[in-house]
Amino acid sequence: MGNLPEFDVVVVGAGPAGSAAALSAAKAGAKVLVIERGPEPGAKNVSGARVRLNTVKKVFDIASVQIERKVVNERFLFVSQGRKVSIDIQTKPDILATVSRLKFDGSLARQAENAGALIVTKTTALGLERQNSEEISVVTDRGNVTAKSVVLAEGANALISMSLGIRPEFSQDEAVEVAKEVYLLNKDEVNKRFGLPDDYSGTSWEILIDSPIPAMGFLYTYRDSVAIGVGATIRSLVSVKMKPYILLEEFKKAINFGELVKGGSLREYSAKIIPEGGYPEWSICREGIYLVGDAAGLVNALVLDGIGPAIVSGALAGKAAVEGYGCERYEQELAKLPEIHSVAVSRPVIKTMLSDTSNLALYAKLIPDIFDAWSANDLSSLSYIKGKLPDLLKLGLNLLRVIS
Ligand SMILES: Cc1cc2nc3c(=O)[nH]c(=O)nc-3n(C[C@H](O)[C@H](O)[C@H](O)COP(=O)(O)OP(=O)(O)OC[C@H]3O[C@@H](n4cnc5c(N)ncnc54)[C@H](O)[C@@H]3O)c2cc1C
Repeated sequence: MGNLPEFDVVVVGAGPAGSAAALSAAKAGAKVLVIERGPEPGAKNVSGARVRLNTVKKVFDIASVQIERKVVNERFLFVSQGRKVSIDIQTKPDILATVSRLKFDGSLARQAENAGALIVTKTTALGLERQNSEEISVVTDRGNVTAKSVVLAEGANALISMSLGIRPEFSQDEAVEVAKEVYLLNKDEVNKRFGLPDDYSGTSWEILIDSPIPAMGFLYTYRDSVAIGVGATIRSLVSVKMKPYILLEEFKKAINFGELVKGGSLREYSAKIIPEGGYPEWSICREGIYLVGDAAGLVNALVLDGIGPAIVSGALAGKAAVEGYGCERYEQELAKLPEIHSVAVSRPVIKTMLSDTSNLALYAKLIPDIFDAWSANDLSSLSYIKGKLPDLLKLGLNLLRVIS
């Protein structure tokens, strides 16, 4: 008999998926180690971000989860050729919240720690080596540890998952590069400029532009700052040789962002990939090794939800690791989770949208065009849509599958 593994479960990454996995495994009585390369959980993480509170609640004690503001209104903004159409919706205050990742991730990790997980930061996992049927060695830049099971919660740039060949690398069409900035702004000014009733109410804008390239962006209000970001597929950025920060500059001009944060100061700039492809097309498990969150390609780009699927998949993988689920069972149980089912059925819609960037440009242009045609009583100006009918029909059919 060899030595017993030092830990029941080792989790790589202390993002939302990793902390959820560690919490659920620790609650089940397992000895859990979380390895995080950043100086603290969330320090390396980039997101908008807004989260769905009901999903967070399924796994974490919401009372000690750190949020910035509860979203009370949402704006969908379509910008095309200097025209803007904005659709404003009042949201019920307990559905969405904006979060700053450093504070949010820290509060999730603390819950995993309080349940008994050990979190080691400033440590990078470099690879996994199976020792025998009972034991996996996790190689790190500070030595090796052994575990019965490993949860890979390493995020989008999942080097270990890819190097082991569990999941593929993503294609240029399936990876969206997002550049983001956060501007400090006094909280009274945030309230005044965005029409918010108090320091706890926030807004969330989703924005589609068709120029300089078709791209999707966001604006979220934090307590005393404003986050802005925009992303496009790597293929479309490469095809026009555009750097993400240039796209962000153009995007800010297109929505007059300068006016909104006048007098504020830039606090951070970051850029990161969002995987838009993944499960169920990727395999996300290998004997005793479970992929979760972005590492498993579990972002729901249709409803802009990556953190929710990360949390629920993490919690399931923590349980699977403790109970020793086989891969078939892990994937079967995963598919039953509503957030993950939604990722799977949304995938064809996203594929249709991203397969041809002219489609994305069309969606940004279509809404302003419809209003222009209506105002001018010239519906014939919409006749160009005829050529796009097959694509629109395909999108419509895929959307029908999502709701049926
Ligand atoms: C600009 C942007 C905006 C977004 N906005 C939203 C939003 O508004 N709402 C939403 O729901 N989602 C949003 N997302 C997606 C969301 O950020 C991800 O889906 C989510 O963070 C996935 O969580 P995760 O735990 O799987 O991975 P991550 O949050 O990426 O966490 C991975 C962790 O693993 C660590 N790590 C990686 N490799 C190693 C290693 N080898 N060793 C040790 N540690 C390692 C990293 O440091 C990190 O802490 C956005 C993404 C981007 C880029």
